[in-house]
Amino acid sequence: MRITDFSLSRLPRIEFGSGVLAKLPAIAHGYGTQALLVTGAGSLKNSPLWPAVTSGLKAQGISWLHLAIPGEPSPQRVDEAVRALRTESIDMVIGIGGGSALDAAKAIAGLLRPGNSVMDHLEGVGPELPYAGPATPFIAVPTTAGTGSEATKNAVLSVQGPDGFKKSFRDEKLVAEVALVDPDLLATCPPDVIAANGMDAFTQLLESYVSSRAAPLTDSLAWGGMKAARDGLTALYADAGDAMARERMAYAALASGITLAQVGLGSVHGLAAPLGAFFPIPHGVACGTLVAMATRINIETLRTRDLGHSALEKYAQVGRLLSHQGQLDQVASHAALIDTLETWTRDLGLPTLAHYGVTPTDIPRIVANSRGSSMKTNPVRLEDGEIATILAARI
Ligand SMILES: [Zn+2]
Repeated sequence: MRITDFSLSRLPRIEFGSGVLAKLPAIAHGYGTQALLVTGAGSLKNSPLWPAVTSGLKAQGISWLHLAIPGEPSPQRVDEAVRALRTESIDMVIGIGGGSALDAAKAIAGLLRPGNSVMDHLEGVGPELPYAGPATPFIAVPTTAGTGSEATKNAVLSVQGPDGFKKSFRDEKLVAEVALVDPDLLATCPPDVIAANGMDAFTQLLESYVSSRAAPLTDSLAWGGMKAARDGLTALYADAGDAMARERMAYAALASGITLAQVGLGSVHGLAAPLGAFFPIPHGVACGTLVAMATRINIETLRTRDLGHSALEKYAQVGRLLSHQGQLDQVASHAALIDTLETWTRDLGLPTLAHYGVTPTDIPRIVANSRGSSMKTNPVRLEDGEIATILAARI
């Protein structure tokens, strides 16, 4: 095996395991006495988690302010929070929730001290000024198994509508100081959230595994994550009380965050950005509904253009992994991969794009806006017509 050149950017300190949430107050204590808690729309405040977290912080002499961010965060919402909170001498930002809450917390932690607008730094819109920091220390506590935001250096912010966009505020200084990944927190996740987030995590693992920047170190992580998702995804969807399935999906999501931050993604995520900007489609649904067809198109295109491409053998390896059939030849294992992805899409009830109002007339606009950073690391450069075929299959 050839070990290609690679660089590994900063990771958080990671605490993984059932019950690690109990470590939060003592860890937070190391950063000061005033916390900002950023959560999603409010379900957390009504859960038994809330008194457990807040009484633990109190016992450590930490006071807190609470900010609830409903839905996917917008630049405006981040700027408002920074304006309102920047004089509060906040020592640390603790994000507890799904990918949206963590991304909001990450962006706010990045800007509380500098105090400028996030629009100054957002990729692809505005001046894209370099981010100098300093960031307020950020502690990430994911309550879903999906985006892997706890391990990444970017916060995805969106403005939804006809002129919408979905872009990243990205810098290594934004990486969480600590990621507390407690699989027990998935116990209250509803099945549709488990399905969408789990498909997102798997997509992130697969896309980074075949990324044009893939490297041996992240390949190992992606492989273990895909194996965990193979054994955990449908089990967790069927029963969120299955502790082993929770561990597997929490691990798959964490691993996916690490790999995507290091080597990038592919066409599914290239398309998820405009889809999420123009239509009210949750990120995980956009990825989950497209991944089977996008994988088929990548494989067909590679077979036509470059039969010796290393991604073709990697897709075959994943096909053998998912189907438990190590003896399959390359063509049969590609079919097994696509078949497994199609089965998951169906069995996990992933909605089609039409469910969110996407029509065939929208395809050119979506394709035109799909060539962001993720599309650039797709293993093969797809023509507009090939990208359109992926979308058309899921409308
Ligand atoms: Zn994703």
